[in-house]
Amino acid sequence: MSISRILINGELLSCSDSFSVINPARGEVFAQAPECDAQMLEAAVSGAHQAFALWRQDISKRREALMAMAAKIQQHSAEIAHLLTLEQGKPLKQANSEVLASVMQIQMAANAEIPMEVLQDNDQALIKVIRKPYGVVAAITPWNYPVSIAMGKIATALVVGNTVVLKPSPFTPLSTLKIAELIKDDFPAGVLNIICGSDPLGASLTAHPAIRKIDFTGSVATGKKVAAAAAPDLKRITLELGGNDPAIVLADADPQKIAKQLFWGAFTNSGQVCAAIKRIYVHESIKSDLEKALVSLAEKTRVGNGLDAATRLGPVNNKAQFERVKELVSDVRETGGTVLTGGDVVSEQGYCYQNTIVTDVADTDRIVLEEQFGPVVPILAYRDLDDAIARANNSHFGLDASIWSDNVDKAAEVAVEMQTGTAWVNQHLALTPLAPFGGSKWSGIGSINGKWGLEGATELQVINIKRF
Ligand code: NDP
Repeated sequence: MSISRILINGELLSCSDSFSVINPARGEVFAQAPECDAQMLEAAVSGAHQAFALWRQDISKRREALMAMAAKIQQHSAEIAHLLTLEQGKPLKQANSEVLASVMQIQMAANAEIPMEVLQDNDQALIKVIRKPYGVVAAITPWNYPVSIAMGKIATALVVGNTVVLKPSPFTPLSTLKIAELIKDDFPAGVLNIICGSDPLGASLTAHPAIRKIDFTGSVATGKKVAAAAAPDLKRITLELGGNDPAIVLADADPQKIAKQLFWGAFTNSGQVCAAIKRIYVHESIKSDLEKALVSLAEKTRVGNGLDAATRLGPVNNKAQFERVKELVSDVRETGGTVLTGGDVVSEQGYCYQNTIVTDVADTDRIVLEEQFGPVVPILAYRDLDDAIARANNSHFGLDASIWSDNVDKAAEVAVEMQTGTAWVNQHLALTPLAPFGGSKWSGIGSINGKWGLEGATELQVINIKRF
């Protein structure tokens, strides 16, 4: 079995140690990934540090390199998508979309204008605010969208002149390492380093004193550790963390009209999306109709191996997460909740779990309080809209929310009440590169996308010139 290599200082290197990567559709090891040691981490950070001085100087070279990277990924998209399905589980079509979306992200970053503001320009003074790169950025990614999250971080950091050391999740390292192999010659040595390894490589990377900025996507628990690791050196941080997004369905909404969008808002990527709907609050007058519509969709939507063309939703990515989903559904049963559909594993299919819809749960139950990050969603009834808003906001999470109604103006008023980074009306997961994306409360610090993402990858400097 050949083992992927890591990219350090322009070289693809093998590691003496390795760890297993599991295909979640089978629950079996299908590959080994390189386990990077402390010296290799040191070499990656030091390479990135040395490359910074030159890389920061020429934006046209940075744009060219990123466009070359995008072209390589596009050219090899089928191969990368295949690996992504094997290690992550998502259906091949969705893996392809993720890879192609990454190509677009890189191209957009390559063409982005670095923000600059002129505050005063007259015969007394020229005062402007410019944006400068930090230096070495540590980028750390999770396992749900490993390619697009990694490429977003890399492209944003590099275009503004930072250099990067990226570490993928050990559950899904192979697609990222494949990209490392493809794009190795597109950047000067040291500009982009892609390392790989299991715990505690992430912690060692974030603690390294030469890192100036950490761009992290993952769980709230790890995000807090990253913030603590950043503190001694006052490293800058962008944290894209977990969510427990509520959808509030008003009494005038038409269950038949909205059910499909609500379903995909909750079950896309088998619920393993930070911004998925994780709680549905529906007015009691239409609860039963909405439940029927959602149950019907859940039962029709095929769960299975992502390489099978008929599959619409893949497995849960890893054993720990699979066990967690099972445990949360058991908890629903034990506390008197009702499983309307699903509630069991898909037999002989690795970590595949049935699309599951539950109800008769309390706000204090684990399935409502915690981020399930899997194919199960609770439906909760409400009578009074203010009460529903208060219940939806009563969470440490604050990533997104959505409001569903035939009365768009009314829904928009409710949207403003949500304590979240984004509030959608009559849609969910409507992520767009045009808008910033980030969490309120424990769901994160900072935003990605557009000028907001570029600002997060840079520090500002005021240039104040006196004119005589
Ligand atoms: P984790 O927080 O477990 O891991 C994320 C990454 O952090 C992995 O690469 C992991 O590597 C690494 N890591 C673990 N411990 C440390 C540490 N002490 N210091 C630095 N890095 C560390 O998240 P998951 O991979 O399980 O991803 C799922 C979570 O990510 C969910 O909560 C989800 O909501 C959130 N997420 C948020 C998004 C957003 O944009 N807001 C988008 C996507 C996911 P290792 O496993 O080796 O420890």
